[in-house]
Amino acid sequence: MAFVDVEQMGTTARRKLTPHRRLQVWERTGGRCVLCHRMIDGVRERWIAEHIRALELGGADDLSNMAPAHEACALVKTKDDHHRAGKAKLQKIRYIGAEASERTLPCGKDSPWKRKISGVIVAR
Ligand SMILES: [Zn+2]
Repeated sequence: MAFVDVEQMGTTARRKLTPHRRLQVWERTGGRCVLCHRMIDGVRERWIAEHIRALELGGADDLSNMAPAHEACALVKTKDDHHRAGKAKLQKIRYIGAEASERTLPCGKDSPWKRKISGVIVAR
């Protein structure tokens, strides 16, 4: 799961979860947290429908990719997913050559120098 294919990576659109679908998510593991594998007390503990493969890592927004998780457990995973998604996006940006050039154009917008129409170079 750590490896993300650069070409297929994209954020999947998230659909709203109805109570009925939330129940289906719960039934997938019988109320067991998919992250820590302990039972979730649905009355006393907050839980969420966790996307096993994060949407921003190209995971599907359907039941096959969802399972219940404690809110606290999910927070840790979400943080890790964001970290990985950030790295994967940077990798993709480099792969498709969309990164900003490290060298600025002489007298370009990011340069401290400016060439006037008359040809005179002045400091910005
Ligand atoms: Zn848990």
